Amino acid sequence: MFDVKTHNGCITIHNKMTGNHRTFKIRTQNDKSKFAPGSRVVSLLTGPDREDYRNWQSFGFANPSGIVVFRKYADTEFAKFSIMLNNKAQYEALGCEYMIESTCRVCNRQLTEPESIRSGIGPVCAGRP
Ligand SMILES: [Zn+2]
Repeated sequence: MFDVKTHNGCITIHNKMTGNHRTFKIRTQNDKSKFAPGSRVVSLLTGPDREDYRNWQSFGFANPSGIVVFRKYADTEFAKFSIMLNNKAQYEALGCEYMIESTCRVCNRQLTEPESIRSGIGPVCAGRP
């Protein structure tokens, strides 16, 4: 059962009306981290390689009450992403699909594309372009 209040890991939200999808990650900051040690931080995947930390943009905290966007992003699309993460049932009713982290059953790499998550096989292993 997915809940942003307790989930650490990745979530891809697929908006079936627009065809857009976004991948988010919630992780706990290392105790020795310079920024917010011990807090849970949510970030957006902004590049093709999710193993590269430079492709993740942090934008809020995952607090016990839900996602709270950093104040500097209050008037950006990150605020909308926070609302979508906090209100799964409501956005599912509007046609969004929430896909919780999964890995390719052939090679174990992380899957981020909606099609890959549904089929359980990544584009390379499935021979897709
Ligand atoms: Zn694979």
